[in-house]
Order: sequence, then structure tokens, then C-alpha cells
Amino acid sequence: LIVPNFEEFKQQIEAIYLACKDSNRGKVADYIPQLAKMNGDYWGVSVCSIDGQRHSFGDSSIPFTLQSCSKPFIYGLALDRLGPEVVHRYVGFEPSGRIFNKLLLGENNLPHNPMMNSGAIMVCSLLQSLTYQNLSLAEKFDLMLNYFRSLSGLEYLEFCNSVYMSEFETGDRNFALAHYMKDNKCYPENSDMKTSLNLYFQVCSLEVTAESGAVMAATLANAGECPITGEQVLKPESVRDVLSVMQSSGMYDYSGRFSFRVGLPAKSGVGGGVLLVIPGVMGICTFSPLLEEQGNSAKGLDFAKLLVKKFVFHPYDHI
Ligand code: GLN
Repeated sequence: LIVPNFEEFKQQIEAIYLACKDSNRGKVADYIPQLAKMNGDYWGVSVCSIDGQRHSFGDSSIPFTLQSCSKPFIYGLALDRLGPEVVHRYVGFEPSGRIFNKLLLGENNLPHNPMMNSGAIMVCSLLQSLTYQNLSLAEKFDLMLNYFRSLSGLEYLEFCNSVYMSEFETGDRNFALAHYMKDNKCYPENSDMKTSLNLYFQVCSLEVTAESGAVMAATLANAGECPITGEQVLKPESVRDVLSVMQSSGMYDYSGRFSFRVGLPAKSGVGGGVLLVIPGVMGICTFSPLLEEQGNSAKGLDFAKLLVKKFVFHPYDHI
């Protein structure tokens, strides 16, 4: 067993869960009306080890949309199908140091990295035009849904149509980004900007719970093999690249501080989720919709900091 005394581990995680519970720092995302309705009091944590030991605390079965937590996974899928050479012809590696939806391109006019909105829209374009070009839009959607279901061990994974429509109706910044990249000739030939953006909105609107999110994080921790079903969903070499980019850019423009203080590959989304990956050990998903200034769940950040205080999970703790 990777966590020999799981009972004791559970109690320690529960203590961290409780220590974060009473903070009411941050506020619910309000850039689209559907997210603004979320109850800010929710707080859930779920852990899943790479050998399938699990436990959850609090509101761990409340559905929330993945939002940016989908980004590492679509990037992983593109890497799996196209390889890093092709993918990184269209999207960079570097942290941007700027807000996730900044109307800005990086070196050589590429989107900075696949964890930014621009980079994720580009990844959607690669999937649409280079990988699944012969499929209908409906088939592409099903494929995506099934891929995310495999990552989450066939547990809770749904599509939230109202969030999707809200993204579509009010996502002016994302439309602007998509057009800006078109104007800069960023997309591969034969790609269609509108369907790429549509796919981006769809994956942002996929809904998980902390429980199913923890399995997704654990699939990354386990080099792409889902610890619940045993299915190899992503190649280990793709997961390696995904984790590297999560480490440098997964927490928006807090990524540098997060890497310094916590040191773990992680990804947050404005739906309130944070995915934490402890490579070779476990995945953790926290859920609280109260966001700090940069867009990260405030309780999720508190949890991660206390976690590395308690356990030697920071990669340089061993030095
Ligand atoms: N749907 C959100 C957006 O595109 C996702 C971004 C996020 O979670 N930061 O703005």
C-alpha cells in the first residue's frame, strides 16, 4: 500500500479540512450569471491514492463545473494523439505572469501555455482539426465526454448545459481571444475557429464532484492509469508533460508563489475546484467556490499549504 496507515492519514487530512473550513475569504465567480448563483459555503475534499484508497470530507458530492481544471486534460489528449512536437508548434511553455484571459500572445505569437484560455482554445483547435476532423460535432462531443469519464473512473461526470449557454452568451473575452489568434494566424490550416471555441466552452462546462475530481487527479498521479478502473487513459510521457506545465502555470498568476510554497503540480478552475497531484502517491480534489483575486479557490490554497506543512510532499522537502 502506498499509504500504509490510511486510517491515520484520513484523520490528519480531516484536521486540515476542518482548519480551512471557517475562512470566508474570497468571492464566488461572477463573470457569468450561472456561476454567480453558486453557494459560497460549500467545502469538500476528496483523496484517492494511486492504489485506490479513498476518503472524502464535507461537500464532496456537490457537482461543480471543471472550468480551467479541464485544461490539463485536453492538453494531455492532444499530446497523446499528436505528440509534443506538433502540439508545441502552436502553443508555448512559458508562464505568462498575467491573468488567464489576458488578450496577449507570447513569443513567436504563440499563446503562452496550454493552461491559459488562449492556449486551451488552441489545444481545442488542434483536437478539432488535426485529430478528429472526420467526425461530426456530436461525435466529437461524445468522444470528449467519454474521455473525461475514463479519467474519472466512470464516476460523476456530466455536462452542465446552463453553464455552457452562459459561457457562450457572455464569453466576450474568449471570443475576442479566439479572433485575436485568428488575426495573428495562430491556428493550424483547415481549423475552424468557431467550432474550436465551442469545444472549449463545452469542456469548461463539464461537471464533476470533488470525489470524481480526485480520481482524475489520481489518474495523473498514476502516470495516466486510472486507479479505479485500471484503464490506461493517457500515455505516461504525456502525463509527464502535463504535470510539468501544471507545475509552472496551473494556478493562474499565482503559479510562481504556489510552486514556491507547495511545489506540487496543480490546477484550479473558477468553478471552485482545485486538483492537486502528488505524483506516484495520490490525487486530491478540493472544492470551494470562494475565489481569491487571481481566480484560485481560497480554501483550496489554504488546504494545499497546510498539506505540505504536515506531510513531506513538497518535492524539495527531501533535500
Ligand atoms: N470558462 C472560464 C473562462 O473561459 C474558464 C477559465 C477559468 O476557469 N479560469 O473564462
